[in-house]
Formats: sequence, structure tokens, C-alpha cells
Amino acid sequence: MPHTLSIVVRADIALDTITLEVSGCLTRDTAWPLEQQIRRARAVDPEAPVEVDLTNLSHADADALEYVRALAEALTDPAYVQRAHVTLVGGSVIDRCSLTTGVDGAPTPSS
Ligand SMILES: [Zn+2]
Repeated sequence: MPHTLSIVVRADIALDTITLEVSGCLTRDTAWPLEQQIRRARAVDPEAPVEVDLTNLSHADADALEYVRALAEALTDPAYVQRAHVTLVGGSVIDRCSLTTGVDGAPTPSS
């Protein structure tokens, strides 16, 4: 079973924030589509803060997390946007993938 990421985008009109609820596996491969969604949320309303909720991840690779952190930082750079921020919620490294059933956290060989 491949590592998959799912992203629910919620725009809160009252609070004027955009929240990306991320679940599943955050890996090198899935960090890219997440980046696309963050950039898209940015483009929808460049002044709205974007919150990326990583607390429901089942699997998170250290380098993928580092990538998303650097991206959030870059997008929050005052030179890039006027006042909105990209904030990460949660996001700790989870080495063992609970969505695949490999022994010792090793990915299941694709048959
Ligand atoms: Zn996984």
C-alpha cells in the first residue's frame, strides 16, 4: 500500500482563515501535493492566514516535515506576503507508518 496524503481545505469566512487539515502520510512524495495546496490557499486570499494542521498525520518523515516547515517560513516572509502567515500545527516525526502493514514499520512490498 503506497503512502497517501489527504488534505481537506476549509475556508473560515468569519475568522478569515484558511485551514488545511492534513492526514495520512507525509513523505518526500506527498510533500509536493501539499505544497501545491498551500500555495493554492495562498493564492485564493493572499491576506488570509493559512493554518496547516498536521496533528492527524499517521506517518511523517523528518525530511518531508523539514521541507514543509521551510516552505511555511518562506511563505511567511514579509518580503513575500504583506501580513498573512502560514502556520503549522503539530507535525512531529512519525517513523512507523501505521497505514501500511509492514513488519517493524518497513513499507509493505508492493506485490
Ligand atoms: Zn505511510
